[in-house]
Amino acid sequence: MKRSSALLLMIRILVVLQCLTVFSIAQDGDFDFFYFVQQWPASYCDTKQSCCYPTTGKPAEDFSVHGLWPNRNDGSWPSNCDNDASFDESEVSDLIERMQKDWPSLSCPSSDGVSFWTHEWEKHGTCSLLNEHQYFQTALDLKQKSNLLRLLNDAGITPGDFYSLQSIKDAIKEGLGYTPFIQCNVDESRNHQLYQVYLCVDSSASDFIECPVFPHGKCGNNVEFPSFSSVSHDEI
Ligand code: 5GP
Ligand code: 5GP
Repeated sequence: MKRSSALLLMIRILVVLQCLTVFSIAQDGDFDFFYFVQQWPASYCDTKQSCCYPTTGKPAEDFSVHGLWPNRNDGSWPSNCDNDASFDESEVSDLIERMQKDWPSLSCPSSDGVSFWTHEWEKHGTCSLLNEHQYFQTALDLKQKSNLLRLLNDAGITPGDFYSLQSIKDAIKEGLGYTPFIQCNVDESRNHQLYQVYLCVDSSASDFIECPVFPHGKCGNNVEFPSFSSVSHDEI
């Protein structure tokens, strides 16, 4: 091979290698942190749309996982990063009991949770750089680590009453060390109620961090923390 064509070949190889590197950085660095989102089941149920208890039984009166969502510092987020990936229950068979307890689905009609887990895995999990088992185990462990209900109870915030938004945020900041974002929804009497708590987690999903950016949305100053036992649900 002539020296000039060998040089040309080397340049081509270098260009291809550089493209591959840039592509893989773009894939790996497509988010900056996670939102770890937990829902208060009573507030999911206590709205016009109501809810349906899971086929596996009425959930405990505790926060439950909604999802672990990769997010960017500019507020945007990737979603559905692998169209070929689908939720495979056999990969999380050792976690199913915990998922039924801590990640139940309350939408109607009643379900065993698989469609909710499938949705969260395909939309958010496939962008997380975690495999399916790691994704679900990490979220379950974060739920346990945050122990939200206990933190609120320790600050005198218990279900069945109204509290100031600030006192709810302060209780979580005091107990966990990080400021949460509180998302409210509205019950049938138009009361604002504590619906979801967003905590931020570093991009390797190992520790809580202060949120680089908060989602949009506002609660009133007086927020209901409804009791699960007082809420109606559909029997379907
Ligand atoms: P909603 O509009 O009900 O707040 O959100 C609908 C869905 O969009 C959420 O369940 C979640 O999948 C996604 N989503 C909403 N806000 C955010 C966000 O700030 N970050 C990420 N990663 N996903 C979000
Ligand atoms: P996201 O809002 O994360 O995109 O997705 C929520 C989807 O999961 C919606 O299609 C919603 O109907 C379904 N879903 C099933 N069970 C639940 C549940 O218990 N809570 C919430 N927030 N969504 C659920």
